[in-house]
Amino acid sequence: TVRTRIAPSPTGDPHVGTAYIALFNLCFARQHGGQFILRIEDTDRVRSTAESERMILDSLRWLGLEWDEGPDVGGPHGPYRQSERGDIYAEYARQLIEAGHAFKCYRTSEELDALREARKAAGMHLALKPSDLALEAEEEARREREEWPYVVRMQVPASGTCVIDDMLRGPIEVDWAQVDAQVLLKSDGMPTYHLANVVDDHLMGITHVLRGEEWINSAPKHQLLYEYFGWDMPALCHMPLLRNPDRSKLSKRKNPTSINYYRRMGFLPQAVLNYLGRMGWSMPDEREKFSLDEMMTHFDIQRVSLGGPVFDLEKLTWLNGLYIREDLDDRAFLKALMTWAFNEEYIGQILPQVRSRVETLSEVAPLAGHFFGGVPALREEDFETVKLEREELLKLLQFLVWRFEVVPAWHKEALLAEVKTLAGYFELKMKEFLAPVFIAITGSTASTSVMDAMAILGSDMTRARLRHAIE
Ligand code: ATP
Ligand code: GLU
Repeated sequence: TVRTRIAPSPTGDPHVGTAYIALFNLCFARQHGGQFILRIEDTDRVRSTAESERMILDSLRWLGLEWDEGPDVGGPHGPYRQSERGDIYAEYARQLIEAGHAFKCYRTSEELDALREARKAAGMHLALKPSDLALEAEEEARREREEWPYVVRMQVPASGTCVIDDMLRGPIEVDWAQVDAQVLLKSDGMPTYHLANVVDDHLMGITHVLRGEEWINSAPKHQLLYEYFGWDMPALCHMPLLRNPDRSKLSKRKNPTSINYYRRMGFLPQAVLNYLGRMGWSMPDEREKFSLDEMMTHFDIQRVSLGGPVFDLEKLTWLNGLYIREDLDDRAFLKALMTWAFNEEYIGQILPQVRSRVETLSEVAPLAGHFFGGVPALREEDFETVKLEREELLKLLQFLVWRFEVVPAWHKEALLAEVKTLAGYFELKMKEFLAPVFIAITGSTASTSVMDAMAILGSDMTRARLRHAIE
């Protein structure tokens, strides 16, 4: 039976690209009466967080994507979180070493840098091959005896061509010269993506791998690992990446990429899913509006077109409007609103912000409006109250956006630390620094606390509002 999977790394916000790839994997599996699995690839212990994993599962569920096996629902091939499978990878790495397909590498990072520099100077490809890495036998023995730290690397051919078969692209040729002796186990014993991914796809019975085209370059290594192990390789299908309207790769610098943003903005999950289904794909009758069930019924992977699909906020907004007008009766509309933000949980977060600022209940909605809005309409004159040169002001907002892109956890203390650092850099008092931020976020000069507002609105909505003020 057909088995597909999505294998997100929990290292940040839940990306719309993850939902897009999940949708196509789900449709492909269902169309063949097969199963769809969710596996968490958290081998990067520094960047992976439980919070990110929770958000990924939560937002895929919100969209209506369901998996048959996964870390939360269990299944016969678990555990479904790579950090819990360390022993398995260590054992397979051992087998590769024993068979001569992998080797321990005692090179220090200084030596690796020097080797790369030398290759660069000689105008050679930067891929380090096993022969580059080899040490004199005596030196190798000494480092082993003295128990130097080592990584495990795979053997790769020095030359020749590797041919990868892709369901959409046909054969893809890659020169082995470009493929390095990939690290499989790091010096702390943790596997890299490549080893863990291949071992798990095999043990979990995955038959088809549908993933973003950014992974094409990894495919030769994976194919070689399957050969080394003597396993059948799943069929590969590299999907076109989503793009910004200017055709660059969809990126959070230019567009909101987190599913959380679309949820906070008040898009309907069925409209977002429908829109993602149109990324590089169309129904046989070309209709624009279709449900997940309809997509699964009519799915055909060969209808995926490789020209980079543009994720266009305006088109998504238009489609969402169609759903509100055509699909929701008054009851469903009310229910959608309540699920979205008019509920105890969300309003409960806002009340502490307004209590000390109102005398009657009728003042609450006007004061808290920005918690329910999207990106506020700004007027030039609002910024006139800010005692900063326009250029300085734009620079300040831009720096803040950049800092907020990389803040590891979105809570008030962390945001405050960023703001303090930047205020220091601009030699401004906190109050002066926050004045333009206040207007950009709340859309007015008098409102609730801006730091709390940003914490409650979340990363993507906050950054979208700051970006809007710069544009
Ligand atoms: P950004 O460029 O916005 O920083 P990123 O490349 O850092 O994004 P990651 O966190 O590396 O994003 O990716 C998260 C997941 O989203 C990965 O599984 C990746 O394959 C997928 N992804 C990222 N960008 C795209 C895209 N343009 N189209 C489809 N999937 C994408
Ligand atoms: N963990 C990888 C990711 O973040 C999985 C890539 C794959 O599907 O092989 O997308």
